[in-house]
Amino acid sequence: MADSDPEAPWSQTARLTIDLDAIARNWRALAARAPGAETGAVVKADAYGLGMARVAPALARAGARSFFVANAREGAALRRILGPGPDIWIFNGFTPAERELFAKARLFPVLCSLRQLREFRAALPDLPEGLEVGLHIETGINRQGFGMHELDALRAEGMGEARATLLLSHLACADEPEHGMNLRQRGAFAGRSALLAAAAPGARMSLAATGGILLGEKFHFDLTRPGIGLYGGLPFGQAEPVVRLEAPILQVRRILRGESVGYGASWTAPRDSMIGVLPAGYADGLPRALRGAKVWLDGRPAPLVGRVSMDMLTVDLTDHPRAAPGRMVEILGPNQSVDQLAAAAGTIGYEILTSLGARYERRYTEADPHEAAG
Ligand SMILES: *Cc1c(COP(=O)(O)O)cnc(C)c1O
Repeated sequence: MADSDPEAPWSQTARLTIDLDAIARNWRALAARAPGAETGAVVKADAYGLGMARVAPALARAGARSFFVANAREGAALRRILGPGPDIWIFNGFTPAERELFAKARLFPVLCSLRQLREFRAALPDLPEGLEVGLHIETGINRQGFGMHELDALRAEGMGEARATLLLSHLACADEPEHGMNLRQRGAFAGRSALLAAAAPGARMSLAATGGILLGEKFHFDLTRPGIGLYGGLPFGQAEPVVRLEAPILQVRRILRGESVGYGASWTAPRDSMIGVLPAGYADGLPRALRGAKVWLDGRPAPLVGRVSMDMLTVDLTDHPRAAPGRMVEILGPNQSVDQLAAAAGTIGYEILTSLGARYERRYTEADPHEAAG
């Protein structure tokens, strides 16, 4: 073990390890659950915080051909990473201010409103030939998308020279399989898509994100859009863990019963205690709201005590006689999933992943990518 020699030099920075092979395996596992559909990949928000520059090529090598990001700036960055081959879809649709990004990076907007469609059509003379668009059909989540009256207007007005090749909608409750919303939205999506047969002839249909894939074949349509499941998060319970977050113990301090630890003196030692100081805090994406969370050393838990501060955590190592400066403690990994840590902060795995800070030493593990490509 790298940390077994107490004299060896050790880093004062916490380390985030991202397993690109696990991401590729999660993509293949989700693809296998929807064998009748193409499986895309959602890499918005810097691939859920894990680093689009490394994650997207690994997904492309696994076989992904359709990528989704939120906005055109992300899309342009992704185009530089992936090169000319894959389709890149933009969830936020089209805005004239980004027209050059759409043109240069050949980004496909998922149009969300009549206004966007009109602006896209007006910009067509400045856009390259063959730029496809999607249409986001609102079916119940009430964020983006064409509502019923807008669909009527679209059918009356037509698509002009714009070519819609993808009809998309998004489920509000896909992580709750029994929720009545799922079938209602599915029905609305199928019905409203049928109304667009003339406006968007031959367009493919896409409804399922990670949760939708797990709801079964009825929800798969032509193209799926998994995000969180690729990165090891719920609702894909069978996902392989992708991230490992470890921090060195900076210092172990002995305190007496009745002494307190951290800001606000919110924790008071019930016995003489050994307190470990770890170099990661809320600036690194470990929420200040964490309550009752643990870290792991030698396969055993050590509870967080006191408040999470900006750069530091404090943990109770009294029952860990082998704790010493330089030894690595697990914050995320085999003993504690992203979703377990999220639960201790009253949030979801998505938020933990996308908050992981820029200050970690990041390591990516991957089998020889050239071998994997063969
Ligand atoms: C983020 C997002 C996804 C991916 O959702 P996951 O739950 O992470 O799989 C798919 N579609 C849309 C429209 C999204 O905004």
